[in-house]
Amino acid sequence: MVQSQWPYWLPLRSDLRNISPYGAPQIEGVVALNTNENPFPLPIEVVEVMSARITEVIANLNRYPDRDAHALRQKLAHYITQSAGVEVSEENIWAANGSNEILQTLFLACGGADHLALGFAPSYSIYPLIAQITKTPWFAGSRDADFGIDIAKAKKLIREKSPHLVFVATPNNPSGTATSIADLKELAEATGSVGGLFIVDEAYAEFSDQPSAVTLLADFPHVVVVRTMSKAFAFAGARTGYLIAKPAVVHAALITRLPYHLSALTQAAAETALEFAPVMQSEIELLIAERERVASALAEAGYRVHPSSANFLLFTGFSGEASALWQAFLDRGILIRDIGLRGFLRVTIGTPAENEQFIAALREITE
Ligand SMILES: *Cc1c(COP(=O)(O)O)cnc(C)c1O
Repeated sequence: MVQSQWPYWLPLRSDLRNISPYGAPQIEGVVALNTNENPFPLPIEVVEVMSARITEVIANLNRYPDRDAHALRQKLAHYITQSAGVEVSEENIWAANGSNEILQTLFLACGGADHLALGFAPSYSIYPLIAQITKTPWFAGSRDADFGIDIAKAKKLIREKSPHLVFVATPNNPSGTATSIADLKELAEATGSVGGLFIVDEAYAEFSDQPSAVTLLADFPHVVVVRTMSKAFAFAGARTGYLIAKPAVVHAALITRLPYHLSALTQAAAETALEFAPVMQSEIELLIAERERVASALAEAGYRVHPSSANFLLFTGFSGEASALWQAFLDRGILIRDIGLRGFLRVTIGTPAENEQFIAALREITE
């Protein structure tokens, strides 16, 4: 709805009247390569154990869930300790309905009208959106032509603007660009020097060979690492995201979270998924190999593909509008993403069969 269409009786905030709800098209019966999901369904052995666990939980749905998700946070702590090689405990973890809710919780706790938030565009479009909804001023710093962050420039910007919140997604969405741990450290230092919180969004960390920013926590208490089970864990439908930080950040999140926000069903499902972490993530290697295969096909078709450390590719170098090429793929049953970045489109890596269909459509279009 646009401004003129809101009913007169709805006392909607004036600053929200022209905002469109966030959303990528959800279309039935197409190859969906548009939201960076993991294309593989849950392994049957996991489905069986999870079903049994959820059946037990259902009998107790008359009760509120564990408000602080203790068991889940312990399992997440164990997973991070194993995978990032840094000892963390439940005290360092907060979990929510997707990492988007984690981001909102952080904005509610540390944002607001007199607290500036800063990021490096193009990046995840949810940051400025949640900033706006929480009335937090947002400053969009820039990335260079290949979507890396110029660290000297970024540090200068941070010192100039003194933001309370600094966001870096690595690997970055929509470009797939990874920021090195050495660069993250410099940005963390700069953010610390102005009293800000440095938030590293590692939604695609499991697809990258870079060390996790969790390794910075020992030296920088103001670092918050945000993770999700939606991508590498093939668990987008369950809505589970989390943060890793010093206990004070978790305490702050406890203030702005809604009571009983994470359902007993979600907690039980996520706990089971974590018990099967290696099985849940068994397709990562394949997806990385497929990413390189799709990248080669795009390059062969004459497009320029950005090096990606995630499960998607950003490409450019086509003539005409991105929306026209997006439509050409859709006409062939392939849904990719027009992220609103002029001259660019993003494609998620699917199963080998889906990627084959994408490549066939690509050849047909560029022939
Ligand atoms: C997909 C994505 C997320 C989160 O998603 P949830 O499903 O809400 O956990 C967070 N950050 C980035 C950069 C993403 O691409």
